[in-house]
Amino acid sequence: MKPAYIDDQWSEDPKGYSIRSGYEWLRPKHALQSWKNFVWNKWNYPKHAMISWITMNNGLKVKDKLYPIGCCPDNRCCICDTAVETQSHLFFECLYSRQIIAAVETWCGFKVDVSMSALPNGIGPKPALKQDVHSLIWTACLYFIWTQRNNARINLQLIGPDNVAVTIREEVKRKIRARLSKEPTQNDRVWLRK
Ligand SMILES: [Zn+2]
Repeated sequence: MKPAYIDDQWSEDPKGYSIRSGYEWLRPKHALQSWKNFVWNKWNYPKHAMISWITMNNGLKVKDKLYPIGCCPDNRCCICDTAVETQSHLFFECLYSRQIIAAVETWCGFKVDVSMSALPNGIGPKPALKQDVHSLIWTACLYFIWTQRNNARINLQLIGPDNVAVTIREEVKRKIRARLSKEPTQNDRVWLRK
């Protein structure tokens, strides 16, 4: 942390100490994440954004974390039971998730890049419309894969990947319809309708 005083001079403000500058000195400052505009995009459903934010901070309580502290009897994936349940496995490697994402990609014509390394830089000017839609689809995929994982763990039930992809598609279309009447230009509307 930056020192509070340098040679008897308040380090945050040459005019001297104030409550505001004291608060700024104390406040933890984190580096901006390249994915922040994807997660907190206004097109996203808030519940999808929240799960995506937790995911990107590696905070989901997957069994790889729960097992060592005795909260579950094993660390196997709740969905496929063939691998250790890590976030990476759940979203990028599990066959079930890959089938969902493949079905969504077939529908939307996008490559749904859900790995951090594949994300375009989200910092900077307002994301373009395609990026808004990409965020909407990407966060919906994370949300529904996670809710199905919980469905498998708690209810011992699992909806087929094609049906989950249909649910994602309908949620995304509902949001796009709502947005169509607002900001997009005529060109944007033509692209969205396609
Ligand atoms: Zn799995």
